[in-house]
Amino acid sequence: MSQPEFEIIARYFNQASLGFSKAGVDLGIGDDCALLTAPPGQQITISMDLLNQSVHFPVDADPALLAIRALSVNLSDLAAMGSVPLCFTLGLSLNNPDSAWLQAFSSGLTKIATRYNCPLVGGDLCKGPLSIAIQVQGTVPEGEALTRAGARIGDAIYVTGTLGDGAIALASLGIESESMQKISLCATGQTEQCRQYFKAAFYAPVPRLEIAQQARHLINSAIDISDGLLGDLGHIIECSGVGAEVHTYQLPYSDAAQCCTTEQERQHAALTGGDDYELCLTIAPENCASFERLAELADTRVTRIGAITDSPGILCLDQHSKNLIMQDQSYSHFKAKGA
Ligand code: ADP
Ligand code: MG
Repeated sequence: MSQPEFEIIARYFNQASLGFSKAGVDLGIGDDCALLTAPPGQQITISMDLLNQSVHFPVDADPALLAIRALSVNLSDLAAMGSVPLCFTLGLSLNNPDSAWLQAFSSGLTKIATRYNCPLVGGDLCKGPLSIAIQVQGTVPEGEALTRAGARIGDAIYVTGTLGDGAIALASLGIESESMQKISLCATGQTEQCRQYFKAAFYAPVPRLEIAQQARHLINSAIDISDGLLGDLGHIIECSGVGAEVHTYQLPYSDAAQCCTTEQERQHAALTGGDDYELCLTIAPENCASFERLAELADTRVTRIGAITDSPGILCLDQHSKNLIMQDQSYSHFKAKGA
């Protein structure tokens, strides 16, 4: 590396705005390990997401936006467990670390770290193809973590935000990569406003931490939607030993998606596309009204899109109760092409 490793760490990562002090973090960047203390009665949640150039983002991606995405998608996993962010570590492989790239990357990271009170406490740097590995740690009251295994027959299925934007963004922004799933869209009638919307949706998905924490006591099961609704709801039904029906006519779409896709395109993007980072939650019918009130207070859009059933698999029903057969259920990195 042209700049010594320690200089890079000191200049771009170990600054008060990013490696800030916080209760529960006893020692941050600088020693062989960070030292953490979980508050009494809390469990630690840990999750990691790896982003590789050409697989998860284009070669020329804006470093500040990349950093925002890398930390946001990790925070989305904490949200899916009803967890509160504690801190994170960063593993960075860089081909040619120039100061402008590092400065922009560090400023993007700082923005999200401060917004969600989640300081950087350590990491590693090495030379190699651009790759960003972030591991987040959070806390959750003992026994209260949301999991994929808690769905019960009769639960209502909710999603936060709007669906399909992540997949539509790839088409809208012309993002090409080796293995990222790309939904084919005509994407006609796109305005500059739409393009800006999709850029934000792709690079800065909002982790739904607030609603998940506040409604934790009302939620039976949860997952964040990173590989399309069908695939991720599929994990819930598998882990919970139940089935589901999804009312496709109730799926929520953004104005931008409605403006530049056909109904069929956006439905396909919502059901099988990836990168939405919204939450899919199941809630007992008697808790739905309280949940919707909390969502309103948290200013988070939530939409009831179906129910948990006792028949295996997922039925996708249109308004005439006709079942749509989806061939391509969701994105998988190692799925054979055309399978
Ligand atoms: P070690 O040789 O013990 O692995 P390093 O020399 O790699 O330690 O790192 C020195 C310190 O800097 C450690 O506290 C480590 O966690 C931190 N660090 C290294 N890389 C990063 C990074 N990309 N972001 C934040 N902290 C980092
Ligand atoms: Mg090291």
